[in-house]
Amino acid sequence: MIRGGGYTPTREWEGKIWDSNPPGVNRASPRRSAFGGPSEHLDTVGTACYVPAVPNPSEASVTPAVARELAGIVGPENVVTAMDELLVYECDAYTLERNPPNAVVLPRSVAEVAAVVRLCAAHGLPIIPRGAGTSLSGSVLAVTGGVMIALTRMNRILHVDATNRRALVEAGVVNAWVTQAVKSHGLFYAPDPSSQPSCTIGGNVATNSGGPHTLKYGVTTNHVLGFELVLPDGEIVWLGTQPDGGEDVPGYDLRGAVIGSEGMFGVVTRVLVRLVRAPQEFKTLLGVFESVDDASQTVSDIIGAGIIPGAMEMMDQMITQAVESAYRFGFPTDAGAVLIVELDGLRAGLARQAERVVGLCRKNHAREVRVAQSEQERADLWKCRKRAFGAIGRLSPSFLTQDGVVPRSRLPEMMRFIAATSQRHGLRIPNVFHAGDGNIHPLVLFDERMPDEVRRALAAGHDILEKCVQLGGSVTGEHGIGVEKMDMMAMQFTPDDLDAMRALRRVFDPGGRCNPHKMFPGSKRCADFAPRKQAAA
Ligand SMILES: Cc1cc2nc3c(=O)[nH]c(=O)nc-3n(C[C@H](O)[C@H](O)[C@H](O)COP(=O)(O)OP(=O)(O)OC[C@H]3O[C@@H](n4cnc5c(N)ncnc54)[C@H](O)[C@@H]3O)c2cc1C
Repeated sequence: MIRGGGYTPTREWEGKIWDSNPPGVNRASPRRSAFGGPSEHLDTVGTACYVPAVPNPSEASVTPAVARELAGIVGPENVVTAMDELLVYECDAYTLERNPPNAVVLPRSVAEVAAVVRLCAAHGLPIIPRGAGTSLSGSVLAVTGGVMIALTRMNRILHVDATNRRALVEAGVVNAWVTQAVKSHGLFYAPDPSSQPSCTIGGNVATNSGGPHTLKYGVTTNHVLGFELVLPDGEIVWLGTQPDGGEDVPGYDLRGAVIGSEGMFGVVTRVLVRLVRAPQEFKTLLGVFESVDDASQTVSDIIGAGIIPGAMEMMDQMITQAVESAYRFGFPTDAGAVLIVELDGLRAGLARQAERVVGLCRKNHAREVRVAQSEQERADLWKCRKRAFGAIGRLSPSFLTQDGVVPRSRLPEMMRFIAATSQRHGLRIPNVFHAGDGNIHPLVLFDERMPDEVRRALAAGHDILEKCVQLGGSVTGEHGIGVEKMDMMAMQFTPDDLDAMRALRRVFDPGGRCNPHKMFPGSKRCADFAPRKQAAA
């Protein structure tokens, strides 16, 4: 049992808005249904290994009767059970492993979410919370089917409190909308994943998202004061600062425990976010270097000089060429690397800081340093950086986005290792990354239709993350573990560490039904999920 401490649900949250005798699904669909067999127990959390009790996706079941009950809660128009429509939800942005859920529901209120969750608990069904599905680690994969709860229709900004610099938003609100909504108050929402035009605040909370601003402003956990959570048994709790409460909350920081738990602790429905005062001015520079080594050394030198830019991002030659060919910004396509450095803050002193950054670039043999001359030029530069992944389609039919961390000073060594890995596996690996915080994003290019290439891409990704850990870093900086990296958790954590994490999970989700089969390394049987076999077979 988890209590948020003194939280009073509003009238809407108390009210039951569904019918105890739900009507049937009115949609007379000739399409193939995804209903499985009768409902059974679904999964258990073992102490030594996370072993799914239902290994076969077809065994997880949403019977027609359960589907009717779901429709009774959210309305038939907000339930998806036809297989051709469920295919939309068969994967997230990690496309190597796919499996559709048995049903998707699109609730519009916390009461509906709680009722759906209670129904699933009664039937022992897995629940998979979903935002925009932009996860790059397969964290929204319905590994053994189940009911996916998509929050995208809970997308209202409920309240902006400019005086106390906070906003209360529903979980399905798109990240970029928050800054849009508070701009006129001279405020912004700092966490800025490159997916911010589509990813949701609920998804950001569940993955503890970062972005270019992480270097100076921190990640999601530094900007979320509190949130409402529907626990896997349907109970609604509020964790952390309450919407109208003071910031200091006594007791354990359960808010912090849930942030980054990848949808395994319950469904986040409303979030109280912290707003930051918008900088008075920006100075955005583009350093052009002959090599990644020189650009990396510049990153270390800038931080070493006591300058903390709002963002510091690097693109190597291959990605710069793809971005230039897609967006025509004017990047030099023969440069070894380009470094974007954005200084922000009070106008006074910013020009001097920019001069020092230019000097450090030159010291490290920058061929050229450009300074954005207008707000439009700055916006164009960021558009190119944030859409860099989108340009990869010009280079390859498929790519695997890796996400690891190394200490900033080890970046040159890591980049050399990635180049060697590319040679060893015979696959191209361009790099675009958050250089300021050592968060690398090597993009392993391959063709998903070629099983051998899939195998080599997975092996290359594995080698790179292993090296990150050897260098004192981590197997993920911001994209999470999902299904993609669950076996890699054992590289970084001891069995005791993992058991402690499983024990924490059981506090929130004793039945292990909430987003099951994620994060923890499994037994051989767990690693042999059918979708992974299909992709690499
Ligand atoms: C082009 C591109 C660029 C990206 N750049 C970045 C980046 O710079 N930084 C970064 O951190 N990530 C980045 N990502 C990854 C991804 O966008 C983030 O992880 C994002 O936070 C996911 O949000 P979402 O709404 O799409 O969540 P989903 O992908 O739908 O879900 C992600 C996880 O959150 C859980 N979840 C979603 N909503 C809820 C909820 N309401 N309650 C409980 N659990 C929930 C899901 O179960 C799943 O485990 C990028 C992805 C793409 C495709």
